[in-house]
Amino acid sequence: MDRICIEGLQLFARHGVFPEENEKGQHFVVHAALLVDTEAAGIQDDLSLSVDYAAVCEVIRDTMTSRIYQLIETAAQETALAILHAFPSVNSVELEVCKPEAPIPMAFRSVSVKLQRGWHTAVIALGSNMGDSEGFLNGAVQAFRESRYFRHVQVSDFLWTKPYGYTEQADFLNGVVLCETVYSPHALLDVLQAAEQRAGRERKLHWGPRTLDLDLIFYEDKIISDARLQVPHPGVQDRTFVLAPLVQLAPYYWHPVLHKTAAQLLEDLA
Ligand code: ADP
Ligand code: MG
Repeated sequence: MDRICIEGLQLFARHGVFPEENEKGQHFVVHAALLVDTEAAGIQDDLSLSVDYAAVCEVIRDTMTSRIYQLIETAAQETALAILHAFPSVNSVELEVCKPEAPIPMAFRSVSVKLQRGWHTAVIALGSNMGDSEGFLNGAVQAFRESRYFRHVQVSDFLWTKPYGYTEQADFLNGVVLCETVYSPHALLDVLQAAEQRAGRERKLHWGPRTLDLDLIFYEDKIISDARLQVPHPGVQDRTFVLAPLVQLAPYYWHPVLHKTAAQLLEDLA
């Protein structure tokens, strides 16, 4: 991916954990690299197909100066989010926020936080078989739509399904969301589990009744396997109630382990 770089943007802001820092303020320096596809702009020599770096500098200044954060971690994260929203063609941004006058009683050149944030495609399966199932699924979708950490939230039709695993329970309402998120896979799992908690889910029985179940099915083409998270979700190839709604949204979605599209996996179950 091409990069548009801004180096050494100087700002005066009030971030810091000490009250004097918030009152007096100090100088900050920001470096930014935007990952953008500039090919079409380059071919046509047309700024509207690329990113106006003067406008990016204004967004950085406005975000860095309109609020006071204790941490430059937060200032950097909020600035990255603001850039990602203001310039939709930016896929990812690397941002370094430096604090050359930080209150450290030693000689030093600068301290800084450097981070990378970008949009990542994710597929999330939704299920519910207790209470107002349609309300729980719609509530989850609405929460994604309202969050600045998501964009392009697409939702499949919801379908009623016979229970899977433990079968002595009510039918499930299932659906799938295809979206882009700024969260990392593990941060996204935290967000999904917090949404399940808010929906009043109690973790009693594996595969048992639940008000809301949110499973991360795919995250880009990443393969993850640790104690908390397995991606692609290990059950996806066995679950018509995930594959059928996914095929509505993205029949071409490629399973990075089984090397088949969602449509092929669904066909294999027929
Ligand atoms: P299930 O969805 O299989 O019916 P739960 O929702 O109770 O069961 O999830 C059990 C555990 O599965 C969670 O504690 C979570 O850490 C783990 N897990 C592993 N991979 C995933 C994934 N891709 N999506 C959601 N949870 C996952
Ligand atoms: Mg789950």
